[in-house]
Amino acid sequence: MGHHVSQKQVVVQILIRGLIYFTSMVSCAVCGCSHRTGNRNKPASQVKFEEQNKRPMKFFRFPLSNPEKWQKWVLAIRRNNFTPCKYSRVCEIHFEKKFLKKGVRRVGCISLSPDAIPTIFPAHPPDLEKLASKT
Ligand SMILES: [Zn+2]
Repeated sequence: MGHHVSQKQVVVQILIRGLIYFTSMVSCAVCGCSHRTGNRNKPASQVKFEEQNKRPMKFFRFPLSNPEKWQKWVLAIRRNNFTPCKYSRVCEIHFEKKFLKKGVRRVGCISLSPDAIPTIFPAHPPDLEKLASKT
């Protein structure tokens, strides 16, 4: 009897884990950036980043509750025909260090400052990058 129950629990656990894994896989919304959440198909640059920082790469949701800020993010990303949904994320490499705040409660916990806007886009043409950093 006890054996039967534990087997059932294991199956349920595997199903839940699979579901979380499947639904939590999100790629970065920035054009040309292939960084993604989850553990599968990580690009080499992300693996390197995580090795160097000794923590997983952080992904941030679009500020849906703040339309003004939301629009700034969308304009900053300059992606054609793109409307972020509640599942869209932007990975941390697109934010300047000054916008990233280390968590005070937990080590390795990183949050964005309220005025954070993505400004770093390595995949964009170099000229655009220079222009963006000057302003
Ligand atoms: Zn990214």
